[in-house]
Formats: sequence, C-alpha cells, structure tokens
Amino acid sequence: MISYEQQLPRGDKIVIVCTEKSDGDFRVPPEGKIADQGLEQRRKQITSHRWFWIRQQHRAEIATVGTSETETTDNIGGAWDACITSEAFIALSVTTADCLSIALWGTDRGIGVIHAGWRGLRLGIIEKTITAMKHSFGEVASAFIGPHICAGCYEFSPKDAQDFVKRWGSDVYLPSGASGRLDLALIAKSSLREAGVNDVANVDSCTACESERWFSYRARQEEERMAMVAWREQA
Ligand SMILES: [Zn+2]
Repeated sequence: MISYEQQLPRGDKIVIVCTEKSDGDFRVPPEGKIADQGLEQRRKQITSHRWFWIRQQHRAEIATVGTSETETTDNIGGAWDACITSEAFIALSVTTADCLSIALWGTDRGIGVIHAGWRGLRLGIIEKTITAMKHSFGEVASAFIGPHICAGCYEFSPKDAQDFVKRWGSDVYLPSGASGRLDLALIAKSSLREAGVNDVANVDSCTACESERWFSYRARQEEERMAMVAWREQA
C-alpha cells in the first residue's frame, strides 16, 4: 500500500492510504449484504479507526459524515460518490479500479474523499465537493490523487469527449483515428486549480499499464477494487 502524510499547522496530521492488489479486494458488498469477515480484517489492517464507506453511483452526491453515522460499519454505505467530515479519526473511503480517487483537505479540520470517473467529472463532483467543504469547514488547500488509468490507456468516444473539450480545453482529449484518449487526471487537476487547490500530489501509476500492482476493469475486466482511505489524526 501507499501511505501519504501531511502535517497541519496546528499539529494534526492528514493520513492517506491507497491499497494495492497485494492488499486484497476492498469492493463494497451489494446492498442488503453485510461485509464479510475478510473485508473487515483487511480494513482493520489499514486502520482501526471507524471506517465510513459508500456505494458509488458515478453521480455527484456528497455525504457529510458526523460521528453517529460511523458507530457501526454495517448500517452505512449509502449511494454517494464523495464523503466529507470535520471529525478526526474517521476513515473516509472510496474504492476504485480505473477511476480517480481524490482526497481533499484544508489547513484546519475538513477532509474529504471523492470517487470520480468521467461521469462524475462531467457532473462537476470535484467542484461540488470543494464547495460543500468550504461551506461546512473552511478552505480546501491540498489534494492527493490515487492510482488511476492513464490517458494512453483510456479509450473514449469523440462524441462523449465533446463536453470535456468544451469545458476543460482540447488538451484533455487526444483524438486517434475513429476513437481517442481522455485524460482524467488532467481534468481533475484543472478543476482543482480552478477551485484554488494548488498543492496537488499524484500517484503517477497507471492501473491498466501496471497489471501486477493494480486492479483494472478496463484493461483486464477485474471486478476487485482498491481503496483510498483518508483521515485526520488529532494531535
Ligand atoms: Zn496506462
């Protein structure tokens, strides 16, 4: 797994973990089914903090997490694609194979994680999450982008690409014959920069190219998922 930490001015610490193939499958169980023992154990190996997880829909709904939602892990998991909190020691998580996982935080208390594929990006999930965080907890200063499919591997139809080129410019789409390649990370970085988030770290490793290390649905039809987990440690 990849671990990333950032110290905050008041002494708290942001911790972000991205699991790898070797850490196992972090796929969220279907609605009505509770997580199996194996998944709970894998989560505990990442952190013993209470874990908040979501059932991702490729939409742009955001969960604001307080302390009550995380009392048990079995009664959470609503249909959202991002979650945010100002509480310390709550492990917010999203799962991905090729999509972007993005952690966001400010210099004070707020932290959030986003699952963003092309549908979420087109719906403005990054902008919406930052707006929600600013509204609830103050500014957002930093971001961390987990492993994702690279532009070279992400074939995308010119028809669907039109909206992205219109909104983010021609650099995000490279036409190639009858198809083309969409650069999800470049779109995310542009959205972050526009929202004033300039401190952006990025795991520059492609889930499709690096078959030993990551799961990829696009490249290998793998159903398993990696997790991005992020929390604030209070000093
Ligand atoms: Zn690639």
